[in-house]
Amino acid sequence: MSQHTVPNMPLKQLNRISPSKYFSLQACILREIWSADTQINGLLPAAAIIKIGTVAHKVLELTVKGSVKNEEDAVKQWDIEVKAIEEEMSSNWLEKHLLPLSKRARYYEVKRQQCLIMVRSILLRGGISGITRHSSIQAEVWVESHNGKVAGKIDVVRQTSEGIQIVDYKTGAVLDIDAGTDVVKQEYQQQLKIYAALYNEKYCNWPEHLVILTLGHKEYDIPFTRKECTELLEKASARLDEVNVMITSAYNTKELANPTPDNCRYCAYRPACEAYWAARDLTGLWPIDCFGRIIDKRVLNNGNLRITLSNGTNNAVIRGLDPERHKICNLSDNDVYFYNLNADSTPGYYSENLLTTFYSK
Ligand code: SF4
Repeated sequence: MSQHTVPNMPLKQLNRISPSKYFSLQACILREIWSADTQINGLLPAAAIIKIGTVAHKVLELTVKGSVKNEEDAVKQWDIEVKAIEEEMSSNWLEKHLLPLSKRARYYEVKRQQCLIMVRSILLRGGISGITRHSSIQAEVWVESHNGKVAGKIDVVRQTSEGIQIVDYKTGAVLDIDAGTDVVKQEYQQQLKIYAALYNEKYCNWPEHLVILTLGHKEYDIPFTRKECTELLEKASARLDEVNVMITSAYNTKELANPTPDNCRYCAYRPACEAYWAARDLTGLWPIDCFGRIIDKRVLNNGNLRITLSNGTNNAVIRGLDPERHKICNLSDNDVYFYNLNADSTPGYYSENLLTTFYSK
């Protein structure tokens, strides 16, 4: 199997649901089945800034755990985590061209500085308003439902004079822009509410506050009732059973897929998803992907490739392809699928960006 061939993607039952995945499991079961399978890798590269979010998260976790004791440690730890992620990426054909992260990740230095400011704040007062340095703090607290069906790690649990706070660090956008100002995305609200119920199941103690803390040092308190948290936990547990029954009885992947522009936009499994290609159209709402048989392929004076595809109805021209990265020179007469393109102002014309990837049939 070549790098550019979609691998076999089995459907395995889910062992459990993580609170962070409950919302996305409602959106598309197929995506979550594949993403839960540790034997399956994403088929499209993740944006470099997501890797930086992972680095920041790790540095903050080690600060809360006490391994990072001062800002100098934090600077060193940042470099260690970046190096570890870069090593992993360098052996992945999908992502090695995104190195070094310091150059390829947008807002690299902004995120780094925000992380260091947050470290300082955690070292002083746990990073959260109104908390004194004497409050007890635990990082990566594992919580699991009695039946084992819902489980996950809480980023931070703080014991304060006001009671327990459950805190989740987020390194990306947290607000629901369609819902008005300062409304946290439903998925994050549900995640924290399920954590609250799980925490209570384990410790017989309800938290007083559920807090989202961003890298930009904004803090959002999620209002909740105990009843809704308990109900959400019950729903998540029941959903696991329903989904596993669906997986057992599904004849093909299409029965588990829910292709919509919003669901599919950032899905790394589009190359394996028949339902996606059956559902998508050429409206600008869907990801900018295209497919067809190669009918022309040429290297331009600037060394970049330009190829023309025909899908039987329309032609698509893709310019600016890096021949080193795409190795498409060896292909002829193949059906190819291109993902994550930029659309030119002329209809039917596209160009590549750092996330552009192709698969052939
Ligand atoms: S491409 Fe869309 S429908 Fe297919 S698995 Fe991904 S999110 Fe689901």
